[in-house]
Amino acid sequence: MHPTHRTSYGRSRRRRNHLALRGANTVVCPNCGATKLPHRACQTCGYVRPGLLLKTRDEA
Ligand SMILES: [Zn+2]
Repeated sequence: MHPTHRTSYGRSRRRRNHLALRGANTVVCPNCGATKLPHRACQTCGYVRPGLLLKTRDEA
């Protein structure tokens, strides 16, 4: 079976309007103020949570 009507360009664009990917969410590091990914150690200072600080690569 074939579709009865051709889907117009505007209709397919409207349908795919919500399919675009968004950029990754970022949060502000409470230790140094840099933006970082949520639930990840801070790339700048290595802060994870109060009482846990990982060494950054060039520091170790
Ligand atoms: Zn930080």
